[in-house]
Amino acid sequence: PHDISEKVLKYYEGLKNHDRYYLAKAITLVESSRKDHKYQAQQLLSIILDVQHSLGNDVPTFRIGLSGPPGVGKSTFIERFGMHVLSQDHRVAVLAIDPSSSRTGGSILGDKTRMLELSRQDDAYIRPSASHGTLARNTNEALIMCEAAGFDVCLVETVGVGQSETVVADMVDMFVLMVPPAGGDEIQGLKKGIVEISDLIVVNKDDGAMESAAREAVTEYTSALKYLQHNTSWTPRVTSVSSKTSKGVNNVWNVILEYFNVMRNSGELQKRRGNQRKLWMWRQIKSELLNRLNSDESIRKLVDVLEKKVFDGKMTSGTAADYVVDVFTHKITQNSNH
Ligand code: GDP
Repeated sequence: PHDISEKVLKYYEGLKNHDRYYLAKAITLVESSRKDHKYQAQQLLSIILDVQHSLGNDVPTFRIGLSGPPGVGKSTFIERFGMHVLSQDHRVAVLAIDPSSSRTGGSILGDKTRMLELSRQDDAYIRPSASHGTLARNTNEALIMCEAAGFDVCLVETVGVGQSETVVADMVDMFVLMVPPAGGDEIQGLKKGIVEISDLIVVNKDDGAMESAAREAVTEYTSALKYLQHNTSWTPRVTSVSSKTSKGVNNVWNVILEYFNVMRNSGELQKRRGNQRKLWMWRQIKSELLNRLNSDESIRKLVDVLEKKVFDGKMTSGTAADYVVDVFTHKITQNSNH
């Protein structure tokens, strides 16, 4: 790429030096909706991509999604798990997506008291995502920034509500679902889709009076998984932990290492990342096209008129949609001919 600005180069140097100040600035850049910021973010991402590409196509980082209902113990777990992973000479970044914050203004994940010990470590970085419609894309790009800053274990945490977990699954190598120590009806209540995409199910709170319930839950999830199709070399697992006492936390990390071994050796991890990049390209095409359409003044006027006709039943939705797209594409071709 040419015309790289001073600012972008400075950011890149900062990331390369593992400087968390510049990581924070870089993530703010990808979260910004300003046009010049978006351009700079893409420049920065291009440099990172070029450097990664020149280093070869192996996958040296771990992108792990962690989802589960509020109160299941995600932040307690991440605190313990993160400290363990740090002790294994890795650097840990945590990106938290909170789908509730955009709607209510409140936040399940955003409060600063979460993961206090981990957040004080030099080799850890914790960031709650800002809440915009383009949250997912931002998080995907923030993940790349974290890796460029030398964080090789990246956790993307999300509350298991709405669509957020499938979006997270599309940006990580491995999807981990955390569930409470209860089986039976509770399993039925879980959205089927989320169990299906899980590479590992972790039953939390395996301690004290809840130990036997946790054991039962492990058995139930294990048999539930048996009936699910999986089309990778990896067979999904179920394990239990106590994030309170740390019991089983190192085992979770060992299972994760095993997963990455299997998936790297088979080449499936590289393929998964490639497919994800293609998917994100199309997501960005769709959202960018919509952005441009919505910010076109004459299109907006046309849409106002057509919406009314559709509302009154004077024109079919399909005809109106075709009309808008035709006018818009015609405008684009005219502009590019100048
Ligand atoms: P999150 O909403 O999923 O992030 O859940 P939190 O980490 O905030 O935990 C919710 C509650 O469960 C807190 O009161 C924790 O102390 C408690 N908790 C978390 N993990 C465990 C565990 O392993 N055992 C027990 N007994 N309590 C836990």
